[in-house]
Amino acid sequence: MAIANQNNPKTEFTDQAALHKIQSQISANNIERDIAKLVSFGTRHTLSETESDTRGIGAARRWIKAELEKISKACGNCLEVYFQSETISGERRIPDPVEVVSVIAVQKGTTDPGRYVIMSGDIDSRVSDVMNYTDDSPGANDNASGVAGTLEAARVLSKYKFNGSIVYAALAGEEQGLFGGRIMAEQAQKDGWRIKAVLNNDMIGNIEGINGVINNTTARIFAEGTRQTETPEEARLRRFTGGEVDSPSRNLARYIDWMADRYIPNLDTMVIYRLDRFRRGGHHRPFNDLGYPGVRIMETNEHYDRQHQDLRTENGIVYGDTLDGVNFEYAAKLTALNAVSLAGMAWAPTPPAKVEIKGAVQPSTTLSWQAADKIQNPNLAGYKIYWRYTDAPQWQFSRYVGDVTEFTLKNVVIDNYFFGVASVSKDGYESPVVFPGAAGAFGE
Ligand SMILES: [Zn+2]
Repeated sequence: MAIANQNNPKTEFTDQAALHKIQSQISANNIERDIAKLVSFGTRHTLSETESDTRGIGAARRWIKAELEKISKACGNCLEVYFQSETISGERRIPDPVEVVSVIAVQKGTTDPGRYVIMSGDIDSRVSDVMNYTDDSPGANDNASGVAGTLEAARVLSKYKFNGSIVYAALAGEEQGLFGGRIMAEQAQKDGWRIKAVLNNDMIGNIEGINGVINNTTARIFAEGTRQTETPEEARLRRFTGGEVDSPSRNLARYIDWMADRYIPNLDTMVIYRLDRFRRGGHHRPFNDLGYPGVRIMETNEHYDRQHQDLRTENGIVYGDTLDGVNFEYAAKLTALNAVSLAGMAWAPTPPAKVEIKGAVQPSTTLSWQAADKIQNPNLAGYKIYWRYTDAPQWQFSRYVGDVTEFTLKNVVIDNYFFGVASVSKDGYESPVVFPGAAGAFGE
């Protein structure tokens, strides 16, 4: 066949020593210590008490904030740490007024601070009755693991400087209705944040499935298909051009999948073509609702006896989300996957904007895009076009085309492949691949 890289299943990339180093610096011991600390607050239910310094959601969020401030101090105040809150009431799971308070830390980029990639976990926990805010609710895996992973990623990544900004978020009110994520996404939109990725970590420490499978070598990345923000006109166009499997969230998931293959030993990810688990939800959704690329990263094998359960033993079965159900090495592995993905994107130039494609009834396919701002992206080397068979899960073929804004792939027929463009830094860091048109856009 007449295309380049035909026999190269994983298209060429520059192996990055810094990403291997970041992977090696993530500590399972730190993650274990932080999960144990979060569990020690007894309950972190959204409606639980806020006055005590040892029990309840108030104590938990103050500890998370203090921990992020400690990390910031160690890097010469490189993080901006703050509470983000809103009073919620009149909701099914928050009937009376409650302050929903997330903890956010921002590591500003050096050249493109307005571009953001975000890692998040959830502070709050629950037991069988979602309104029970007094009983012990350790939430060790759901979701102290996600918060501990986020803190550890901050600890490691704060030692580096990046072109784009990285945000570490411990979000509140997840179990009561995804409130913290909604509050953060709306505020980010108001503030004009150019969010290119949300990596929502929700349950990253369980390796023993309810189905009997025990496996610490796989993880799942859930990513929505067509965008929630798609207009009827965009849907009409997509019918003729494709894009059902190439939302920015899907191409973010493909990016993370490659990061796992390249930088995380003994980890393979399943990219799942679904917003979240069947009929269930998570904190990436409010970001997707506003059009931001976002995925859920989590364990492959869930154990339902250890989720949302009152602590009890019944018919010899032990229920509850306790510390002994968490595998800290595995949580560290998924944290490292987040860290290398965030670093890779924050060091890469911004994903190409305004990607367009044409070539109907022609022998060749032409892609075009907007040139990246040279002040924000001084490290830009150029662009790389990717393509794949339409039923292939990952990008298969690529061609580096230099610092241009239009390129024609000669004798590659548009009908037979899906195409996208990534930006590439002088060091070889690449952005996620951007599928043309509104269906695939990562924004400006
Ligand atoms: Zn949960």
